[in-house]
Amino acid sequence: NVWTSAAIRKRFLDYFASKDHRVLPSASLIPEESDQSLLFTNAGMVPFKKYFQRPDTAPHPQVATIQKCLRAGGKHNDLDNVGYTPRHHTFFEMMGNFSFGGYDKRQAIIYAWEFLTQHLQLPVDRLRVSVLASDTESQAIWKNIVGLSADHIDVLGSQDNFWSMGDGEGPCGPCTEIFWDTRQLDRSTEDRWLEIWNIVFMEFYRDSHGKLDKLPTLCIDTGMGLERMASVLQNRSNNFDTDALYPLVSAVGTLVGGGHSSLDQVIPGKAEMLAGQRIIADHLRSSSFLIADGVVPSNVGRGYILRRIIRRAVRAGRQLGLVDPFLRSLYPTVTQLLGNAYPELTEKGTLIADQLHQEESIFYKTLDKGLLLLEQAFSRPEFAQKKLIDSHTAFTLYDTHGFPVDLTCAIAKERGWQVDTKGFAKLQQKQRERSQHTWKTTGPTSTAADLSSAWADSMIRSGKANGSTFVGYDP
Ligand code: ATP
Ligand code: MG
Ligand code: MG
Ligand code: MG
Repeated sequence: NVWTSAAIRKRFLDYFASKDHRVLPSASLIPEESDQSLLFTNAGMVPFKKYFQRPDTAPHPQVATIQKCLRAGGKHNDLDNVGYTPRHHTFFEMMGNFSFGGYDKRQAIIYAWEFLTQHLQLPVDRLRVSVLASDTESQAIWKNIVGLSADHIDVLGSQDNFWSMGDGEGPCGPCTEIFWDTRQLDRSTEDRWLEIWNIVFMEFYRDSHGKLDKLPTLCIDTGMGLERMASVLQNRSNNFDTDALYPLVSAVGTLVGGGHSSLDQVIPGKAEMLAGQRIIADHLRSSSFLIADGVVPSNVGRGYILRRIIRRAVRAGRQLGLVDPFLRSLYPTVTQLLGNAYPELTEKGTLIADQLHQEESIFYKTLDKGLLLLEQAFSRPEFAQKKLIDSHTAFTLYDTHGFPVDLTCAIAKERGWQVDTKGFAKLQQKQRERSQHTWKTTGPTSTAADLSSAWADSMIRSGKANGSTFVGYDP
């Protein structure tokens, strides 16, 4: 069997269709307008949020999907992990099966186990599970029904095994997770034991005050990362080495010349280069999908997150020695990899490539000056002593040179420096007050779009959303 990404997708959906699940297409990365608790879809359950509270309104009691997900801020933020862990992307595909009153814990666990061990034929001795300490029911199912020995069952606390979509209001509950032993003994425990599948038992609804209410019916929500599954089945030690991403990583390598394809064969000094290639590959996927779903680079709300992602990719390109816009030239590789599964990438291909190019071109105008300013800050003895970029430099970079502060933080972090983000937030707040004043005196022309971007901005500022946390950013 050759487990291409396409074959994995198909096998997953076929399996759950054969178990009376209705297969639904991926929803947009932008949650429904009525759901103001999130900026982006960060898990397969997001489009079904309302069904957990009202299972009777679900189109079918059992559903399976492969959902486009974005994790670039908020509770589940993987932006800074990209390129540095083998398993994180900002954009990824989450395969999931769901039950809205259709089946119980036991059935959910048996489906997952049967799929992994019989259909994908993963060897049992390389799998291990975690369960919530108080969830003795799941522990008993793994032990007595599946037949796992105690040393393959990790009993953990709610930090690890209680899942929720965000920090605010929403469905939540205990979960049990399945891990794959990569047998990469030199890696950290987290990287050696690759989390592949999370099975969540939606038992509660947390209201906006943090109070947990029991849901009328126990629902099931599961999520398995496609790219991680591909790394397991293709025997790769890194998601970026699978058929889902490798061609893009290597296209960046070709562009810069002398690029590398895999950490396993890295020449000393080239590891950073490979990280840069991976960052570009990842960010190109996420920004392409965001544009396809209607997001436009801007200074507010969702558009600002898109802008941040694109600008981080552009800066990574500069690190690799690219001096001209390059994103558009890589876009055909994106459609080659994902166009079949996601036709919107082909249908809106021209728009996407043009917007990437436009945003990149805008940033190129200020990038060099900004990098120079940053270099000067790095060489000032009074900053070097504390390894801290001051708030004024960070603010000038943001305001004059178009550097989102998380980008400044990321560059600082590469040298073991930090940024005074608290001071930055104060300067930004002052500026906001000034511009609000201007807005009041010139009179509002408020449209629905303005209102929603104002809302998205307040979500970002409060750090509640799966969006930016650029105020109070913790480098
Ligand atoms: P991790 O602990 O590795 O960060 P997670 O616990 O945050 O993962 P969940 O919220 O449980 O992930 O999501 C369900 C599944 O989605 C994970 O088991 C994994 O297979 C996949 N997944 C989660 N985050 C990412 C990501 N950033 N990139 C790729 N796949 C992911
Ligand atoms: Mg995570
Ligand atoms: Mg985890
Ligand atoms: Mg998890």
